[in-house]
Amino acid sequence: VLVQAYAPFLTLTRKTTSIPLGVLMTHHEVVIIGSGPAGLTAAIYAARADLAPLVIEGEPSSTSDQPGGQLMLTTDVENYPGFPDGVLGPQLMADMRSQAARFGAELVTLKVSRVDFSVNPFAMWIGDPDAPLPTYTADSVIVSTGARSVMLGLEAEQRLIGHGLSTCATCDGFFFRDQEIAVVGGGDSALEEAGFLTKFASKVTLVHRRDALRASKIMQQRAFDNPKIEFAWNTAVVDVVGDTKVEALALRDTVSGEERSLPVSGVFIAIGHRPNTDLFVGQLDMDDAGYLITGSDRSTTNIEGVFACGDVQDHTYRQAITAAGSGCMAAIDAERWLESRTD
Ligand code: NAP
Repeated sequence: VLVQAYAPFLTLTRKTTSIPLGVLMTHHEVVIIGSGPAGLTAAIYAARADLAPLVIEGEPSSTSDQPGGQLMLTTDVENYPGFPDGVLGPQLMADMRSQAARFGAELVTLKVSRVDFSVNPFAMWIGDPDAPLPTYTADSVIVSTGARSVMLGLEAEQRLIGHGLSTCATCDGFFFRDQEIAVVGGGDSALEEAGFLTKFASKVTLVHRRDALRASKIMQQRAFDNPKIEFAWNTAVVDVVGDTKVEALALRDTVSGEERSLPVSGVFIAIGHRPNTDLFVGQLDMDDAGYLITGSDRSTTNIEGVFACGDVQDHTYRQAITAAGSGCMAAIDAERWLESRTD
């Protein structure tokens, strides 16, 4: 019904059409939602396949839910292949972005407010989600909206992320050789990060708000057996102290109310991740934690022509390089699917 409503206003390929009330609607063969390593790699591949993709990048914000994604909140990236001396996260994303643009990807710094994948072509809205006509339509869509680390909600987290405060031990553990650091959280992620970090740090204090861990028994036992891990039970983080780099944690005992300072040069927040999938509820299949479900070794979703890549569908690896790899897969899957329709 919706298609019939706006079909007269559509052009079939890559053209812009003015429609009444000053609304501008464009149609693309491929629209990519999200512009982290997954989305921009998909854009590079789709552009080089002559599909002129539109990348809806997101809008600037202080969270990872912004153009460029989680790497925009990182300083040095030393594990992305091809950069023997490392690269700054924002620089890496700026370079990926210009590489995509060079091959003909169009990038818009806008945020999608609504999608409708039940119609063909697929429809996407910017701004008013109740507007009768979508802003963009597409033959195929690649979803790469990423995930975000759950944060404690302290002002200091924004200031110090990338300056001693991290959400990824695999990425940043190396920088804390022989230093005393802390991990916040009591689930499997926190214990896994803490165990990994003991390869580098001289001491890791696990700060947990309760007196019992949520993590699996085997992970708990491993942590208890690790002589470099100390536990701060019933402890809440009141603040992360330091102007330009992490110097200490201000802690409060949740039972006695007593406050104390824990000197550390690094803190890893490991209290969970949330995929950015609110837009797709009821349309794309998700697991219990909200991650999109893709086909095995594929980027396909439950809707033909809609593909997903990067952290929005990956709760295991969560690395820039794995996201980029899956973005390449999604672009190739989309290209082949589009071709199969014209056979
Ligand atoms: P999680 O299981 O939800 O644990 C989050 C932890 O952070 C909990 O201990 C929670 O405390 C704490 N927390 C949450 N909000 C907090 C806040 N505002 N302040 C202080 N502490 C807070 O998340 P996860 O550890 O990321 O694990 C997610 C899923 O992935 C789980 O199913 C897990 O088993 C799985 N996983 C598995 C592995 C593995 O098997 N190798 C590794 C990583 C993750 P409370 O306990 O008090 O609620």
